[in-house]
This record gives sequence, C-alpha cells and structure tokens, in this order.
Amino acid sequence: MREGSLEAPTRHPLDWQNPEFYDEEKLDAELRRVFDICHGCRRCFNLCDSFPRLFDLVDAAPSEELDTVASSDFKSVVDACTLCDLCFMTKCPYVPPHPFNLDFPHLMLRYRATDVKNGEGSFVDRQLAETDRNGKLVGLVAPIANFATSTGNTLSRNILEKVAGLDAQAELPKYASTPLTSQARATTPEINREAPGFGRKAVLYATCFNNYNDPSGGLAARAVLARNGVETEVVHPHCCGMPMLEQGRIGEVAKSAKIVAKALNEWIDKGYDVIALVPSCALMLKFEWPLILPGDADIKKLSSGTFDLSEYVVDIARKNGIAPGMEPIAGGVSLHIACHSRAQNMGQKATEMLKLLPQADVQVMERCSGHGGAWGFKKGNFDVAKKVGRPVARTAGNGGKAYVTSECPLAGVHISQGIDALGTDKPKPALVKHPIQLIARAYGIEV
Ligand code: SF4
Ligand code: SF4
Repeated sequence: MREGSLEAPTRHPLDWQNPEFYDEEKLDAELRRVFDICHGCRRCFNLCDSFPRLFDLVDAAPSEELDTVASSDFKSVVDACTLCDLCFMTKCPYVPPHPFNLDFPHLMLRYRATDVKNGEGSFVDRQLAETDRNGKLVGLVAPIANFATSTGNTLSRNILEKVAGLDAQAELPKYASTPLTSQARATTPEINREAPGFGRKAVLYATCFNNYNDPSGGLAARAVLARNGVETEVVHPHCCGMPMLEQGRIGEVAKSAKIVAKALNEWIDKGYDVIALVPSCALMLKFEWPLILPGDADIKKLSSGTFDLSEYVVDIARKNGIAPGMEPIAGGVSLHIACHSRAQNMGQKATEMLKLLPQADVQVMERCSGHGGAWGFKKGNFDVAKKVGRPVARTAGNGGKAYVTSECPLAGVHISQGIDALGTDKPKPALVKHPIQLIARAYGIEV
C-alpha cells in the first residue's frame, strides 16, 4: 500500500521511440518540474541516496531553491538511483492518476537513455550487462573465475576494480559449470500425483542468475512444485534485459522482450503457466515490457500469463491447498522483501509463502537492501549500497533468527555482507539464497 493515496498507481508507457524523449531541453524542464515537487515534499528522504543528494543540492544552493542548482549537478542524483521503484510504488502520492503525473524512476531512466543516445554510456558497463554471453563463457571456466573473483583474492579483485570498475570489496555472484537448463534436462523430479496442485503445468523462466550463477533456487522451486503436483519445464531463451534497462538501453531491452515473449508464449499456448524465478525478471515480464512495447500482443499475453515464484506457490496454496509433509524450520527466519517484488504490486507473497511453514517464525524486512542489481557492485556505489542497506543488515543481524533470506539473490548476499560489517558478536544468521529453499528443506528436500 502506498502512503498518502488510496488509489493504485498507474504507469504510463515509456515514450522512448519519440525523438522528444531524448530532447535535452525538454528533459531538463521535466527534471526541474519533478525535482521541485520532491523538494517541497521530501517524503522519500530515507529511501535511497538519490533523494538526500537532491535535497543537499537544493539546501546548498544560493536561493535554497531548485532555480539556483546547476543542471550539471543533476547527474549525481540520477547516478544514485537503482531503479528499485520504491518511491513510485510505496511513497509518492503524486504518481498517475494524480495530475502531477510524477514517475521518478522512469525519469531517471530517461536521463540515462539520453546519455546512451549521446554516446556517453560506458563500454565496460555495456559488456557487463551481456549476462547471457558472459554466463555461457565464464561458465566454461567457472572454478577459475570463481577463485579469481573471490573477495579474498585481492590481487585479481584490485585488477578487476581498475579495469571493470567493480568494487574489490563487493561479493560478486559465482558461476555454475552447468546451467540450470542443462541440470533440469538431466533430472526430472517425480510429480506427486496425489498432491492438490496436480494438473497444473508451469514453465520456469530460468533467469540469467539461476541459469548461469546459482541453479540451486531453480532446482528447489522445481522440486517443491513437483511435490505439489505441478509438472515443470525450465527454459532460458534470453536475458530479460534488466541489466540493460538499468543503463538506459531501452532499445536493447525491447529486443530481448520480443525474443523471450515469442519463446514463452509457445508454452502458454500449450497450457503452461510462466514462472519467473527472480522478482526483477518477473517485474520485467509483467510490467516493464508492456510499458516499453505497449502495442505488442505477444508481450501483453506473456504479461498476463506470468507469475512471480512466491506468488505461484501462494496461488497453489490458496486455490488447491499446499501439499502436506512439511516439518518446522527451527530457529526462525529474517525475510527481506525484494523491492522488485513490492513493485509487482501483489502483496507480500514471500511472507505468505513462508507462513505456510508449520510453526512459522518469520521476521519481515520491507526496506531496500541497498544493492540495486549490478549498480551495487560498482566502485563508488558499493559504499552507498552498504549505507542504504544498513537498517536491513542491522535488523537481520540483531533479529536472533537462524536464517536470513531474500527473494532477490543479490540482495541476500549484500545483506549478509552488511551483517559482517556490523561487527556484532551475535550469532550470524545463515544465508538461504531464496525462501523457496526453506520450503524445500521443510519437505526434506536438500538442493
Ligand atoms: S527508484 Fe528507488 S533508488 Fe530510484 S529514486 Fe526511487 S527509491 Fe530511490
Ligand atoms: S517521489 Fe513523490 S513522495 Fe518522493 S519526494 Fe518526490 S514527490 Fe515526494
């Protein structure tokens, strides 16, 4: 639920194919209009670092108003935005249908898209966003790559920091030697034909993270769904384009969207539901792509046929009942609700899912972890990401639970690093990569 408004936010399509979208004078006028409203409001002062940067600029300006802030200073505000969507979804009373028509994250995206149009995007960042290509190549040498990118390997991490701008302290995702899609082809879980969800069929959109970095969440999802009678297939036609979106490369996101929609719609036509294993990717399929390609029938169909993983498990539980056989998870869990789960406007599905556990003991943390996708790995951003994420790390570190988990795989690791940085002598909760793995454990399935 959003503060200050009873109406659900609506979002206008991104006008990225209109040359005026990239007109610098018009962009500057829109930035000044929106920033002035934010300066008068200031509700979002503690959501991230973008707003404090904006308010500091205004407060330090000669007139203490936006009119004496130089436009060149706006870049620092844009640079701090992780596109988490929290301001839009949870705070702002001025989003459409309000006549102020304020969409702060999409304005930050427009600024970045204009930079890219002007040739200002970084070559290295562009390469890092090639998650499919990188996953396939690095997976071939996964053990060496994982050794080289470990934070304990200061020599290679310092080189990586200089060459690629990745902060030497940031925990980077490891790579898997065998992608999730290959592992899934090799092992088909036995479907429980007595389970309440029997008869459902779902195709799991693997996502780059589960496919190339850590297939364990996808395997756990598959096993839990099989226990509940759901027949599944795992596919990964292409990246959803979120890393490109973060950089403002909207045209490239549109290309990814068309490839994935064509492939997944073939499954929908065969009677399968689509489940995206990472909330950011689910957000792309469900909401961002229809705003980028509003007239595309394939995108529309996929959007309405797609579920977030936690949402799907809760849907089974509500409509069919959850399969019996779970044992309690001792010690309780601190659950971080991913920003891009909140942005899907579906309620706290991960909380509902973990409350299916017998004797569920769940501490919910509904603030941003600070990481913000690939943004949080970068030199210059990682320290900001730690600062923004400190409240969540403190809650998890001091919460006294045995486990900490997040639906966002990057957020979970970042929170775990944040707990280390607290330096408390309390026992550290063990990181579980995705809440579905706790459900799997409760069923006695170890993945
Ligand atoms: S989208 Fe997130 S990071 Fe960006 S301005 Fe809004 S709250 Fe801050
Ligand atoms: S985004 Fe909305 S709620 Fe946040 S500071 Fe700006 S006007 Fe206020």
